[in-house]
Amino acid sequence: MDMDRFGHFIDGEPRPGSAWRPVFEPAAGKVYAEVADGSEHDVLLAVQAAEAAFPAWSALTTSGRARWLERLADALEQRRDVFAAAESRDTGKPLALARDIEIPRAIANLRFFAHAATQFASESHHGEAGLNYTLRQPLGVVATISPWNLPLYLLTWKVAPALAAGNTVVAKPSEVTPATATMLGDLAAEVGLPRGVLNLVHGSGTAVGEPLVLHPAVKAVSFTGSTAVGKRIAGLAGPLLKKVSLELGGKNATLVFANSDWRAHLDTLLRSAFQNAGQICLCGSRLLVQQAIYDEFRDALVERAATWQAGPLDDPSTRLGALVSQAHYDKVLACISRARVDGGRVLAGGHALDRPGWYVAPTVIEGLGPEAATNREEIFGPVVTLQPFEDEAHALSLANAGDYGLAATVWTRDLDRAHRLATQLRAGIVWINTWMTRDLRTPFGGTGASGLGREGGLEAMRFFTEPKNVCVALR
Ligand code: NAD
Repeated sequence: MDMDRFGHFIDGEPRPGSAWRPVFEPAAGKVYAEVADGSEHDVLLAVQAAEAAFPAWSALTTSGRARWLERLADALEQRRDVFAAAESRDTGKPLALARDIEIPRAIANLRFFAHAATQFASESHHGEAGLNYTLRQPLGVVATISPWNLPLYLLTWKVAPALAAGNTVVAKPSEVTPATATMLGDLAAEVGLPRGVLNLVHGSGTAVGEPLVLHPAVKAVSFTGSTAVGKRIAGLAGPLLKKVSLELGGKNATLVFANSDWRAHLDTLLRSAFQNAGQICLCGSRLLVQQAIYDEFRDALVERAATWQAGPLDDPSTRLGALVSQAHYDKVLACISRARVDGGRVLAGGHALDRPGWYVAPTVIEGLGPEAATNREEIFGPVVTLQPFEDEAHALSLANAGDYGLAATVWTRDLDRAHRLATQLRAGIVWINTWMTRDLRTPFGGTGASGLGREGGLEAMRFFTEPKNVCVALR
């Protein structure tokens, strides 16, 4: 049987691998394709191509580069369904999630940064010491390294601002989910994006990611992935004094107060726990619920969790997808066993589904405190814990326990309390009475073990440019 093969995209052309590794279809637990297993040699070629493309690309007008991103966005929009089907198959997520949220968001990323670049202005300072104006110049060749959970969405979130700001890019998608990145390379060739402006090198983190971070011509690294790998990249890039942006793991708290409209928002609360089988860095995996409504809330959550059923990925009623790999499935099941050993009571799920593929039932656990590993370590699966709290101070101390600081969600009708908590929660993003509502202009990222730096809007444009101040004597 002929299998799909996902090759590199270097210097405007598809380039086969010299070795290949299997790609799995998580909903079946079977190999369905192969991806190039890249090496340092492929990285060298890609960086060379990006270096060669940089002078012409950076010399284009901003609106000229913006038009290229718009062309890519138009082409992606025309293929939305094909990309969504590929993303769903490659990741095991329900088709509707890819088609209605993630691929549209990838299109929006390209369009948003096309516009952001044309609106990006630099500062000038006058009246103290001559006339100062600041240039914002592209860095040169930049690297992007992205994870498997939202493959095209997160890749374009980095590539679009990098290109819009005038850099050329070598992107390393996750080797676990290489399909849509490869297809984006094909689209770039199809629309005629100048050669070498966007390059994709597939392969493992050690064989491709590390040589990319270490390459002297790569001026900055934008990484999204696990905290452990983020630390490794920081360790490699630090001595080389490279700019690094790190979007890492999360262990987000959802605070549900007794006076909130939680019943009306139960569907959003469920999504914030289980969307993409919990494999979103922004999912709220720790539900903190005020004591007065704890029992009622818990029973409603457990009842509703049972409605998150697996099924054919292209069936619109399917809400539960598969976990991305055998290794990740084993890890999530081991985390659930650990929760049991530590005294957690499993109220819903807690087991694999009896069907092909790597499915774990939506799982709700209570009885574990803030010191338990289940409440401290990222599981990144359809697993949430419940902890009761007495009052606002108690909720805050539970929410701020632990090393991560990515996102927090507050459900309350008391706006004073909501704003007060927003200032005190240790997180880069706070949602009030909503979840995952995103304005692409806002700073995106976390504190502590959740990372360094921010993406989004002007933050991304600043990351991908070097400020240069020019001081003119005025006599
Ligand atoms: P991962 O860290 O294992 O891999 C991410 C990427 O880094 C992959 O492309 C991988 O090949 C590469 N990589 C691995 N080792 C490397 C190395 N030594 N040097 C350079 N590159 C290397 O993460 P994952 O398992 O793909 O994704 C899940 C993680 O991503 C979770 O921790 C999740 O919270 C995090 N995540 C964070 C955000 C955010 O915005 N903060 C968004 C999505 C996912």
